[in-house]
Amino acid sequence: MPGMLYILASFTPWILYWVLSGLGLEIGVALALIVSAVLALPQLLRGELSPMDAASLLYFTLAALATYALGSRLFIEESGLLGYLALFLMALTSLAVGKPYTLQVSKRDYPPVYWSDPSFLLVNRLLTAVWAAVFLASALAYAFLGFPLSLLLSNALIAAGVALSVLLPAWLPAYLATREFRRYDWSVRVKPGTLKREDEYDVIIVGSGVGGLTCGALLAKWGYRVLVLEQHYQVGGYCSSFRRGGFTFNTGVENVSGLWAGGPVSYLLSELGLSKDDLFVRNRVRFIYKGREIEASSLEEFTAALVSMFPDEEGSIRAFFEEARRAYEECYSDLAYGVPLPAALIAKVQGPKKLLDYPRDHPHFYDWMNKTYRQKLDEFFKSEDLKTLLCALLGYLGTRPEETPASSALTAVVSYYLHGGYFPKGGAQRFADALKDYIESRGGKVLLMHRVDKILVENGEVRGVVARGKVYRSRVVVANANAKTALLELVGEEHLPKDYAEHLKSLRMSPSAFMVFLGVDMDLSGYPSIIENLDEGYSLVINSNADPGMAPAGKSSVTILTLANSRDFPERGTREYLEKKLRLAWELVRKAERVIPGLGEHVVVVDAATPRTFERYTSMPEGAIYAFDQSVGTKRPYFKTPIKGLYLASASTFPGGGIEAVVISGAICAHDIAGWGREQSPMGLRVEKGVRGRSWCTRTLGDYLEEERRVKWRIYSTLAELSGGGVIIDVGCGDSTRGILLTARDSFVVCVDAKPKRVGKEFRERLEIVVADARLLPLRDHCCSVVSFVFTLHEIDPRAHRNVVLEARRVGKYVAVAEPSPHGVELYERFWRTYRSAVSSIGLFEEYRPREYWVALLKQAGLQVLLDRVIEWRVATPREVLESVVEGIAEEWERLGIDRAHIESIRGVLSSVGEFKWSDIFLIVGVGAQLEMPR
Ligand SMILES: Cc1cc2nc3c(=O)[nH]c(=O)nc-3n(C[C@H](O)[C@H](O)[C@H](O)COP(=O)(O)OP(=O)(O)OC[C@H]3O[C@@H](n4cnc5c(N)ncnc54)[C@H](O)[C@@H]3O)c2cc1C
Repeated sequence: MPGMLYILASFTPWILYWVLSGLGLEIGVALALIVSAVLALPQLLRGELSPMDAASLLYFTLAALATYALGSRLFIEESGLLGYLALFLMALTSLAVGKPYTLQVSKRDYPPVYWSDPSFLLVNRLLTAVWAAVFLASALAYAFLGFPLSLLLSNALIAAGVALSVLLPAWLPAYLATREFRRYDWSVRVKPGTLKREDEYDVIIVGSGVGGLTCGALLAKWGYRVLVLEQHYQVGGYCSSFRRGGFTFNTGVENVSGLWAGGPVSYLLSELGLSKDDLFVRNRVRFIYKGREIEASSLEEFTAALVSMFPDEEGSIRAFFEEARRAYEECYSDLAYGVPLPAALIAKVQGPKKLLDYPRDHPHFYDWMNKTYRQKLDEFFKSEDLKTLLCALLGYLGTRPEETPASSALTAVVSYYLHGGYFPKGGAQRFADALKDYIESRGGKVLLMHRVDKILVENGEVRGVVARGKVYRSRVVVANANAKTALLELVGEEHLPKDYAEHLKSLRMSPSAFMVFLGVDMDLSGYPSIIENLDEGYSLVINSNADPGMAPAGKSSVTILTLANSRDFPERGTREYLEKKLRLAWELVRKAERVIPGLGEHVVVVDAATPRTFERYTSMPEGAIYAFDQSVGTKRPYFKTPIKGLYLASASTFPGGGIEAVVISGAICAHDIAGWGREQSPMGLRVEKGVRGRSWCTRTLGDYLEEERRVKWRIYSTLAELSGGGVIIDVGCGDSTRGILLTARDSFVVCVDAKPKRVGKEFRERLEIVVADARLLPLRDHCCSVVSFVFTLHEIDPRAHRNVVLEARRVGKYVAVAEPSPHGVELYERFWRTYRSAVSSIGLFEEYRPREYWVALLKQAGLQVLLDRVIEWRVATPREVLESVVEGIAEEWERLGIDRAHIESIRGVLSSVGEFKWSDIFLIVGVGAQLEMPR
């Protein structure tokens, strides 16, 4: 029973009692006692009784005794005073014993995932206090005011209580989540593309780590004049590489997450038109634990390996990964801005309701958010060995399982089991350079060997920076350099609130690392690219196994890494330092020789990096790998600082360290600077009035075709990614061009279309063309990876949508829907209406729907929404394209025998339109419960 109904039911005896007693009738007491007994009985049989129903039963028993046994009229004449007093005492007692009585009601409206949430409990304490006050005030009204004033006042108080009961839960969680953030939630509006002085920029970024470059690249794309200042001679920060004697080594990054179809790094690449396949390659990882080797290239293989080692835990292993998968998908569902947002931003950008609904919409992930990784492992497993094995990648966070938030472990560790990790092709530097090149290609500037010495602040607002004695001006500065250096040194403590500066100082740094770089004249291609040796506590990366270009032919580029602390190393340049570095390097080589015999004898190039080396090259205090310690309870600074206009985009802020995480931080920062969609516009172009609040522009035919390629690429690459080299059934394939392109991305594509004329004649390997109504094909359950409907469903009778999706769910693991929506795009909407009335005249459909409709459709079919993305169409359709589209339509309609009046009216739309643009496209992917990982 929902909460409101339950309250109504609980109040029924009271309403009967007050009304009948008000009329002086004793029967009110008897009826109230009967009703309260009826309400209490089922609860008593279950061994529980809510405080409200318990109070009612007690009160009416006493009232009945007094009225019928003692013949007193006290409970009839003073029904208002006594009744409200009793309710007040009930509310007060429930508060005093720590079980606020409204909790019982709220639990009916909110699922168990809320029940231990601190803000849920606080809301209920407050609500119970509010009701206690309402009951007391009403009792006093009856004590001191006469009829009808007492009745009016008590009813008014109850109405106020009801209003608060609705408003408080909706408002308070968002208020609490944004309380601290609001202190610094300033806004600096920068209009991109407006003329500036030579030394003035829309945005200046201090440091060229991946967080800074992500922010810069997105802003450059949206037309902002960006300047990146980097102290080092190359970009990338920790994401960089160096060459020695023909070998390439990464200074860190070798296993990157977030590159699956809906992942944040994929989002960045697709926004910038960069190809994942050009920049990354999937790693093969081997774990060594208690002398056993476990190697798996997919979740299935990893699960099977674990089951063979721990057969008693088979059920738990499968349940663990199933829950982890669900939690992970929830975390990444509903990415309106391409990346997950922290609570404060969900409340600010998507509204308080979204935040309130977060636990309900993300129950599994929410559970992971509120536990440590250790707690999660304990929940599923008995074997300590198995738990240790599942902590193998915790080095990626640098924390122990009991101090690691389970949600961080999920996104930064378990995600590697679910979606795999990727090696940056050609070395980490190539990825960083691609971002730099993108910024420069969009008119941005990246100045190397430009150490920023000061961030200029006036009256609490940022004004620019000083580097190499020169002032660069901007009202927006993004600190990618770590937060301690940026705020305490470059800004200066004098500009910061005392508590903020003290908090920054108190933050512990994460561990650092010791690394050995080896060029060896050995062919190690028989090994995987990464070996995680848990027995000896190191990671061994054979870079050239991921990308052979990292070493000369027949040789190998190898890196060995172990966690280390800066304080264990003497001052750089001293003899003790060099000796320690050498000793540790060879100790690691000797350990690695137990896995790769003879490694030491084949070394032709050797180098090593200590925490002090990392600090030297990046200015990161203590050479910390992930900036701040990532344990539970660490409160990283928000991405907005107390200085107006000064942002953070790096591992120092949400969500923490690692490439995926800093991409998220860079994207959040860019979106905030751009006003969450307010200011984004392609650079230097004529910008028309926004379409649904966004901007779009007129460009040449070449730009239009480029935009068409970009939009299609985003859809196709998602399909290819989901299929993971498996089968895609492309329903409504049109001329099968899409299928051909997808085969080039290693998918096996079955193109299905009911209209023979629309199906191409192109026959290729890995491509099958079927002319049929897809619903009638005898396809086996789960016989393909993806069933895609790209611009198909709007041509199907909406009454059949549900069955179509159910059938797709039966057949495939993923169901992908891509649909445009002319709603709100004025000229496209006119075009569409004319089109729809023409095709409906011969019984066809052209039924566009809003995004929510498609999302709900997938959910109703029992699918979990894995991806829900809007792909913007930003370029106007040139006249010549529109003319050829309309002529094509006219020809087809003539062939189909559509009335000439319709043909004239679609031509009429064309002649009347000024500027025309296709609508944005919704790309929504659902996943069935039977899902296994894409390989
Ligand atoms: C050994 C090691 C291994 C790692 N392995 C992985 C991995 O496999 N996968 C993964 O996802 N992550 C990995 N990481 C973590 C990942 O590399 C980092 O979290 C991420 O690259 C940090 O990016 P960032 O944007 O915070 O900037 P950083 O990389 O910290 O760069 C900050 C930049 O600011 C510059 N700077 C500082 N002060 C100034 C100044 N005053 N003026 C101008 N410029 C300044 C620095 O020179 C630097 O270029 C690893 C890190 C290390 C150290």
